[in-house]
Amino acid sequence: MIKTHILGYPRIGAQRELKFALERHWRGEIGQQELEAVAAGLRARHWAEQRAAGLDFVSVGDFALYDQVVDHVLLFGCAPARFGFTGAETPLERLFTLARGVATEAQDACGCGHAHSGDANGSDAHGKPALEMTKWFDTNYHYLVPEFDAATRFTLAPQRLLDQVAEARALGHPVKVTLVGPLSFLWLGKAKDGADRLGLLDALLPHYCDLLARLKAAGAEWVQLDEPILGLDLPGDWSLAFERAYHLLHGAGVPLLLATYFSPLQEHLSLACKLPVAGLHVDGVRAPEELRSVADWLPPHKVLSVGIVDGRNIWRTDLDACLARLRPVIDRRAGNLWLAPSCSLLHVPFTLAHDAALDAQLRTWLAGAREKLDELRILKQALTDGEQSVAADLATARAALASRHASPRVSRPDVAAALAALPSDADRRASPFAQRQAVQQARFGLPAYPTTTIGSFPQTPAIRAARAAWRRGDLADAAYDQAMRTEIAHAVHVQEALGLDVLVHGEAERNDMVEYFGEQLDGFAFSANGWVQSYGSRCVKPPVLYGDVARPAPMTVAWAAYAQSLTRRPMKGMLTGPVTILQWSFVRDDQPRALTCAQIALAIRAEVRDLESNGIGIVQIDEPALREGLPLRRAGRDAYLDWAGRAFRIAASGVGDGTQIHTHMCYAEFNDILPAIAALDADVITIETSRSDMELLAGFGAFAYPNEIGPGVYDIHSPRVPATRDMVRLLRKAAAVVPAERLWVNPDCGLKTRAWPETEAALRNMVAAARLLRAER
Ligand code: GLN
Ligand code: ZN
Repeated sequence: MIKTHILGYPRIGAQRELKFALERHWRGEIGQQELEAVAAGLRARHWAEQRAAGLDFVSVGDFALYDQVVDHVLLFGCAPARFGFTGAETPLERLFTLARGVATEAQDACGCGHAHSGDANGSDAHGKPALEMTKWFDTNYHYLVPEFDAATRFTLAPQRLLDQVAEARALGHPVKVTLVGPLSFLWLGKAKDGADRLGLLDALLPHYCDLLARLKAAGAEWVQLDEPILGLDLPGDWSLAFERAYHLLHGAGVPLLLATYFSPLQEHLSLACKLPVAGLHVDGVRAPEELRSVADWLPPHKVLSVGIVDGRNIWRTDLDACLARLRPVIDRRAGNLWLAPSCSLLHVPFTLAHDAALDAQLRTWLAGAREKLDELRILKQALTDGEQSVAADLATARAALASRHASPRVSRPDVAAALAALPSDADRRASPFAQRQAVQQARFGLPAYPTTTIGSFPQTPAIRAARAAWRRGDLADAAYDQAMRTEIAHAVHVQEALGLDVLVHGEAERNDMVEYFGEQLDGFAFSANGWVQSYGSRCVKPPVLYGDVARPAPMTVAWAAYAQSLTRRPMKGMLTGPVTILQWSFVRDDQPRALTCAQIALAIRAEVRDLESNGIGIVQIDEPALREGLPLRRAGRDAYLDWAGRAFRIAASGVGDGTQIHTHMCYAEFNDILPAIAALDADVITIETSRSDMELLAGFGAFAYPNEIGPGVYDIHSPRVPATRDMVRLLRKAAAVVPAERLWVNPDCGLKTRAWPETEAALRNMVAAARLLRAER
């Protein structure tokens, strides 16, 4: 018997119903009951969709109001003591306190919906900071990080989960419950006082056992335990602990499906096959090469669940290829085969089949969560009743795939030719840094501790309203242009008045740092409703990178040249780098990411050269997402950093010595990839450092980072105006590790989420700090 199931479903709602209900609740417009009713309605709808597609179980436990990991913190009663819960709070009050902190303040790094490791999440110095957020493995989903310490105790609070099992059962659905497994749960947490997270396992396991028994009694047919950490390089004591843990869990008597995903099992493959569980799920998309060995090694009485449909991307599945891959597996697994998406469908939009913004042809190439359910149905039927039984479905899929492969929108000989024509040293600047530095110093004549900003200035309601009106067609092109020029002129005048040294135009005309470029490049499409949850109620709508990338016309030159015409000071051109554009898009699966990245790099390179020839002497190429692209396993990291670095340098290296290239990074620890950052050979890097109190910079000092650096001297996430003396203190700290002649002075990141008054006040203090340090020299 072949069965189908999913590891999890998106919960935000096809029309983002959960997002809007959450935000209404937080504004006090609806109560807990109303919010819970919206959630229950969504669950019922999602389960019905799963059953309509013939899944053998519905997925229960994956529906989190905010985040599935914080749900486990509440489930196992291990909220950190610092929140001071008394037991008088309702479960929802506890949830939102953990998720959002106590003193709430709208905070978002870049306003684009991406949050990044260490992003403060609604907190201030006096309130209770929320749990930290960080990225869920290599996805753009952010989970709330459990906080453990030596005093952590667990207690089981299963009621909400049991209620959901009952809810699904009352609707007549067979239930598989989804949980994060105990080892992954501890691994994903953070030990506050250096406590040993693994040391908590023995205290935690009895509660998992207890929970499993309760779920069984409640009628759950299976429990899926997600242990994606089996795809990581694990310390030996962690992998050893699996056996002990799962022997205990096995005793609870409910069939367990151990779920792994995102990465090959490699050295953990035999361990995963041997654990005392009833079934094993493997990621057949990220690790197709392991399917055969898993099929051979997994004892025959166990269920093998093959993640055959890509849960991370939006392309329609090549069903013929899947069937070919599955046939040898079926032969080895008489009967016990389950088919599933590779991972939870949380990472893809609900549907793209009718998206109003996508053209008819493109839509046929794509599959959202609902379409993926259907693909599972077709695969199951083809394997059970023969391909004839789904001949029409298979033919439709084949035709769509053929049209994608043959499309001149996808494969462009001119792009391939341009890449091939690129000289092998196109990723090298003509001269070494020291030489360029001298030329640039002579050209720009900047003072010591030069001041600048990261690019964006406040995206005011007026700017947003103008753009919305222009998009609706209510504002003519010329009028919109004029409105943006007025904003740019304002930004330039403010910066001149403040006495900043290197100016920016302020990015008023940009909605989002990736979308703005994607919309002007060939090879990208944008859905109207392809939302994916980023964290809490935050969603992103990643561009669909479907074809060879080319730049039909300059993208930023007119704005930059206009801004430069308003001032005698250097105006920094502002671009998003190829790795960040790649990283924040749904990327094509029919060629290596490295090649797609190189195509984007070529387009950015052309833009950099056009800026240069139009009088822009300084160009910043932002790469905040460079760190995020690192493969989960150490083994793949060097190769990634090689091609990613080369892509950046291709973009940056087409200019003369006198053109100064900046890059900017934020949201992450960079110390472990410093050699790769240095290899980018940007003349100046600005990085987020203020929240680590310049600690991050120590790594740059120790590594003897060779080029110029602007360590962020204040946090842009808060409207608080930083004092000059605080910034002076940070700069002195910086000057202790990096020679002062290589230091720049700038905020941590762009200012688009801020308002003008605090922005001006903060920059005024920042310029004062730079002047103080200059005077000391
Ligand atoms: N130039 C961009 C800005 O200032 C950089 C944003 C980012 O790093 N996330 O908004
Ligand atoms: Zn930034």
